[in-house]
Amino acid sequence: MKAMILDKQRRPLRQADLPCPKPGLGEILLEVHACGVCRTDLHVRDGDLQQPKLPLILGHEIVGVVVEKGANAEGFALGQRVGVPWLGRTCGHCGYCASGRENLCDAAQFTGYTLDGGYAEYALADARYCFVLPDAYTDAEAAPLLCAGLIGYRALAAAGDAKRVGIYGFGAAAHIIAQVARWQGRELYAFTKPGDAAGQAFARELGAAWAGDSSAAPPQEMDAAILFAPVGALVPQALRHTAKGGTVVCAGIHMSAIPQFPYSILWGERSVRSIANLTRHDGEAFLELAPKAGVRTEVQTFPLASANEALEQLASGRVRGAAVLLMGEHGNGRRQRGR
Ligand SMILES: [Zn+2]
Ligand SMILES: [Zn+2]
Repeated sequence: MKAMILDKQRRPLRQADLPCPKPGLGEILLEVHACGVCRTDLHVRDGDLQQPKLPLILGHEIVGVVVEKGANAEGFALGQRVGVPWLGRTCGHCGYCASGRENLCDAAQFTGYTLDGGYAEYALADARYCFVLPDAYTDAEAAPLLCAGLIGYRALAAAGDAKRVGIYGFGAAAHIIAQVARWQGRELYAFTKPGDAAGQAFARELGAAWAGDSSAAPPQEMDAAILFAPVGALVPQALRHTAKGGTVVCAGIHMSAIPQFPYSILWGERSVRSIANLTRHDGEAFLELAPKAGVRTEVQTFPLASANEALEQLASGRVRGAAVLLMGEHGNGRRQRGR
């Protein structure tokens, strides 16, 4: 099978021909149709996340169909379309797993990080951690739901019942979760890199009441802010615009250092928290909600062999919505854009 391999961190991916893997106990083998390209993939490639399996196949937003089942792999039929998320496997018995917080499992394994992922024509997954995907979405449209959507959803839930929500960094996760927030009747303020007029226009198209530079003040105090941009300096900036009792949610897996800030901007029962990974419950809840809320994903697709280009475009902020790799005949070599 063709795959894009990370041999070593801080190197471009290499195109390789590998033997197709065989499903082990509880695993399914998928013919991959599409795989989303996530900011976390950049953090793995660039060495911000330091424990990858190497060599590694990146990619944790996998859409494929089941072509082979290992012993005891249950829940999916041959030929069925499934989605594979970042949470690849957990221990099932540690304190976190036993208390409904499998996202924090000490022994968790992660797709496209400690397990091979979906930048390939075939991929293995533990069937217990895969999802049925809503029919309303094509393969390419469904891919970004599996991380950008899920993590965004968990971050929005961490904002509680906040009415006015700020979103810093208007990429793949924000473009999905903005639609959910609007559907829930919340008011949305979108913050982009200074001067990113296209990003701000995109946010307004998706229902943001206000969009501006990350250095700007919103028209009103916010009840919560969600940070998708991996920029620690945004934490005190967001806190300064968050009302008493409000929460600043850091949704990324990696962030630059948070600068020192005065206690007065945290005072008033404001909180700063992170969200980590996902639980299967998050996935089931979000994938049921997304079509009901009318969530549409905007994707920019690339053939598998152009994975390095997709990563570069994501790194430089040139992707509108989400970047997605298409495999085999699903990627016809031409870049497409569409809903
Ligand atoms: Zn565990
Ligand atoms: Zn991701």
